[in-house]
Order: sequence, then structure tokens, then C-alpha cells
Amino acid sequence: MKDEKIVGSFQLMKSLNKSLILNTIRTHGSISRSDIAKETKLTPPTVTNIVNELLEEGLVKEWQTGSSSGGRKPILLKINSSNFYVFGIDISPREIRFAITDLNAQTLLYKTITMKEEMTSSRLFQMIAKQLYIMMDEACIELKKFVGIGIGIHGRIDADEGSSGFAPQLQHRNVPLKKELEKEFRLPVKIENGVRAMAIGENWFGNGVGISNLVCIKISHGVGAGFILNKKLFHGTNGLAGEIGHMFIESSGLKCSCGNDGCLEALVGSEGIKQRTLNKISLGYKTKLIERTNGMIENVNGQLIYEAALEGDMLAKDILEETGRYLGIAIMNIIHLFNPERIIIGGGLAKAKNFILTPIQEVVEQRALTEQAKKTEIVLSKLGDQATVIGAVALVLNEMFSVQYESVS
Ligand SMILES: [Zn+2]
Repeated sequence: MKDEKIVGSFQLMKSLNKSLILNTIRTHGSISRSDIAKETKLTPPTVTNIVNELLEEGLVKEWQTGSSSGGRKPILLKINSSNFYVFGIDISPREIRFAITDLNAQTLLYKTITMKEEMTSSRLFQMIAKQLYIMMDEACIELKKFVGIGIGIHGRIDADEGSSGFAPQLQHRNVPLKKELEKEFRLPVKIENGVRAMAIGENWFGNGVGISNLVCIKISHGVGAGFILNKKLFHGTNGLAGEIGHMFIESSGLKCSCGNDGCLEALVGSEGIKQRTLNKISLGYKTKLIERTNGMIENVNGQLIYEAALEGDMLAKDILEETGRYLGIAIMNIIHLFNPERIIIGGGLAKAKNFILTPIQEVVEQRALTEQAKKTEIVLSKLGDQATVIGAVALVLNEMFSVQYESVS
């Protein structure tokens, strides 16, 4: 659909050249007009005209280096990143995180709102809109200074329509959140599944910068993955790609929310970790967790297990290492399917890196088919708790700066 719109439209070609120039300036940090012309193969007058437009709009600024020896110092162009802002929103089942950032994803204002009850779609929209107005006030930034709103939301998403296909805790099946926010704020709104937003965020600002084939795995209540293949976010035919939480791992008897047994999510999602811990305790394993929960062992959670493991509790350590081995099996399958250069692990479980990373690497080392596959880099998210909200910001920037070369024929 995008291709049809772009091809044959002079106006869009012009904005395509604008994106090309913007992206050239961004990737270089600073660059002269003549170097832009050389790199983009656009004519110098075209570059001058577009740069003038960008200067007028305040999107780029001129600056002079002090490094030139002798002669005239060249005038370079930079992105005026602190002159415009982006809203990033991360909607998870129990809380919504909001950020206002500049064009370098530097956060100016950050807020988390906990949702105490299930929310209907209209209340969700009203709550988001109200927060955005409050934050604009608090940051003293006018609406016209924003270039867009990015949203990462749990569940399956129709990225074009902005509808959430399935987000159970929020009761908003098929909510056109994108349309409602675009109408209210008159800004472009980009919406994506949370882990895909995280993948874009890591690719732009985190541990995935410069990586063309990248997989991000998020493990919290649920488990999902975002794939960047050949520098592009991959959705699959119906937006289902990345549902690795339902990859079959082991017939353990642990029931998954999808109705099947032995899915990755049933084993390493927060409920899965809790259930495996309770099963071991019921078999008589000794653990500090009984004391830590004042005997109410049904209240055990990932955080308590992590803390107990740090204190040397054997059961807690066993559970986390086993979690790493299950993840290792899933990661090995992903390596064989997509052969990524790097895999990034994020979400709440990433905090337990000292316990999970070695078993993951051991499984990959033992089972991957080739020497190169065994050496696939497996790292933790750099952006941590803010990975999805920064990813939401990056969705907007990706749209603003990216150039669809292959769309131009
Ligand atoms: Zn499942």
C-alpha cells in the first residue's frame, strides 16, 4: 500500500529526498552540503533547496568546526535535536509509561501510571490524552513542537490501523487508538506491539545499533520477540511473527494461557517461574522463600526468587538456571530459523542476568549447528525498563528519518 502511494507522487518524492537528506545528516552527526550531495547523488541545487527548507523548519542547524587547518572553516549541518519532541507511550497490562524526549531520545519527562482496574477503550484513550496534556504543561512544551506520538502496546497489533487485536487485560479488542489520538492531537501516531517497539528502540539507541539482523526477546508476564531482518521490522503475513511465547519447549505438564502444554511462556513467563518454584517446594525442597513470604508461599514472585538467589538460596538459583536453559532452547531455535547477528534479552527477567545468561550460552554452545551460530551474540537490553517507551519514540523517528529506497523505481 505504501509503495503505491510513494511511486509517481512528486510531492512524496520531494519529501523522500527530504528524508534522505535528514537521514544522511543524522547518521553522520554533522556533514557539509557538498558532502550530502556526493553521498545522496542529489544535485547541489536540490540539496541547497531542501536544506533551506529544513533550516527554516528548525529541523537542522548550521555549525562550524574549529578543526580546519588554515583556510575557511566548512559550515556543517546537524540535526537540531533539542528543538522538537516526541511522545513515547508504553502500555502494559498493569501500567502505562509516558516519556517526552527530544529527537535523540533524551528523556525530558518520564511518568509511570499504575492501572488499578481493567480499562475500557474509551477510558484508556481519555486517560492517555489527559496525561499528554498534563505532561506538555509540566515540560512547558507547546503541541506544535512535537513531531509525533509513538505507542508500544502489549498484545497483537495491526500497525497500519492502530487497532489492538488482542489485549485481554485492557478489554480493548480492535480499538482504533491511533485514529482517536491523531484526531485529538493532529500528530502522526505510530503504534506497535511492545516488543517490536523495543526492538526498534534497541536498534536505534540501545545494544542493537548498527545491527541489520536483530532479535529482541522480552520476558515478563508474557514472552514475545521482535525481529529486525535486513534492517526492517518483520511482522509476518498477519502480524503474528514473534509469538515465541508459544514455541513448544517441553511437555512439562505446565498449561499455557493458549491452552497448550509446555510453551516457552508457560515455563519462563512470570507465572511459569512461580509455578515451577511452587512445584519444587511441594516436593520438599528447602528454601528461604518460605520464610521470605511469611509462609504464604503462593505469594512468591520473580523478584523474591531473584533476591533469594542473590543470597545463595539453592532452589532459587536452580529455578533461574533452569529458566536460562529453557530460554537457551528457544534461542537456539531462533538462531537456526533466522541466523541473527545479535539477540537482546529484555523485560523483568533480564535483571537476573547473572543466573540466566550462562545457561543460555551453554545450551547454544552445545546445540547450535555451526561454529558461527554458536558464537551468536546474546546480550541484555541496554534500555532496561524504558526499552519499550524509548522504542515507541524510535517508531516515530524511524518513520520520520527512514528512506524507503526500494519503493522508488
Ligand atoms: Zn502457549
